[in-house]
Amino acid sequence: MKKDFEMTAEDLQTLLEAMKPVPMIALQCGRPTSAQESANAAWARLGEKMGFYPMTVAPNGKGNRFFSANAVPCKGFEIEDNVFSGCDQSSGDCPVCGE
Ligand SMILES: [Zn+2]
Repeated sequence: MKKDFEMTAEDLQTLLEAMKPVPMIALQCGRPTSAQESANAAWARLGEKMGFYPMTVAPNGKGNRFFSANAVPCKGFEIEDNVFSGCDQSSGDCPVCGE
């Protein structure tokens, strides 16, 4: 399901930085990362943080901090390692998604 998201100004800054061409001075030993790869990585981190699938991101016309994407289904909160409470039992009181 597509959902509307709003990133923070800080997240936007991080994305814009990641999309810039990599200046030669920033290249370290090893394989340089292309701007596309850094942008993908930045979107992946944001997706993990905000709960959406980065490959499904699309602009929704509300501004550059707004977009729509497929939301990762809420798993509820983590009770212990990889054990989640499940969201479907809650009614408006899920601590993770608030639903
Ligand atoms: Zn939830």
